[in-house]
Amino acid sequence: MAKTLEFSYHPYTLKLKHTFTVSSFSRNDTPVVLTEIEYDGKVGYGEASLPQYLGETQDSVMNFLSKIDLRIFEDPLDCDNILNYVENIEDGNNAAKASVDIALHDLIGKLLDISLYKYFGLNKPKNIYTSYTLGIDRKEIIKTKIDEAKDFKYLKIKLGADNEKEIIEIIRSVTNKPLYVDVNQGWKDKKEALDMIEWLFEKNVILIEQPLPKENTDDIAWLNERSPLPIIADESVKRLEDIDKMKDIYSGINIKLMKSTGLREALLMINKAKGIELKVMLGCMTETSCAVSAAAHLSSLADWNDLDGPLLISNDLFNGISYINGEVKLNDLPGIGLIKKSGFFE
Ligand code: MG
Repeated sequence: MAKTLEFSYHPYTLKLKHTFTVSSFSRNDTPVVLTEIEYDGKVGYGEASLPQYLGETQDSVMNFLSKIDLRIFEDPLDCDNILNYVENIEDGNNAAKASVDIALHDLIGKLLDISLYKYFGLNKPKNIYTSYTLGIDRKEIIKTKIDEAKDFKYLKIKLGADNEKEIIEIIRSVTNKPLYVDVNQGWKDKKEALDMIEWLFEKNVILIEQPLPKENTDDIAWLNERSPLPIIADESVKRLEDIDKMKDIYSGINIKLMKSTGLREALLMINKAKGIELKVMLGCMTETSCAVSAAAHLSSLADWNDLDGPLLISNDLFNGISYINGEVKLNDLPGIGLIKKSGFFE
């Protein structure tokens, strides 16, 4: 068999189990592009997940990926050179780049017969409990979802629409589990935001994600200084170059592979954030077990893990991480540790 790096990609649509609503929009599905890199009889899997608000589409991703020719590289272990080449094709395209990064790391793990956390020199993730995300919903549906989430130790709730206190009271009428609150830039006034956070602090909420529009940096810094809860940047931060600007504004950052261009830069971001005393949340989009399991290999480094993507969809293509009583468990297979379900782009 000729040893060349063969790259391919396929559009796919993830079906959500529930209509998902955040402060600015609702949706029932998420477009993705799945990637494969094959070398010497092994196949690495990757994924680009494309929620609308990040601006990439299946067309933009496939257009970007069509410019990639991995056959110019002889050795798949030349990871930095390959990813630098992909990086330099064009600016932006973060999720498209992530889909190559993830597939390449999966392939490298398989070629070396080693799990990715070991390849990165990290401990095997242990006692990693993910939050389970509840979108904005009607009262009965929130209760149903909390019931579905009974195995999980932490819940994440999207706020930023009307009747926020009522939503929290509904949750608190059925469970006292610690809550992460994600506002998705939905609040506008810093003083009202502080009042709300002080109220949430009494309700066993443990962090607040992106309370104000990302442009309002002075207001966010004002809020972070006074808030009894850590304020975490999500929409404000994508890549390594953004982190320095977060230092005096936020308490922590939410790192996601689809923003960071994949595992290589996510790891650099985690180390950089820790070096300047920013807390780290490891998050995901609506994604299959491919990208979320990839992220889980870094989970031992994060202060909080929000890795529930595969739980929110009904047509996952892979078995990867499992969730045992809310704990994220990696298997001992090489690479990401994926088993492709049958019948899919054979
Ligand atoms: Mg968020």
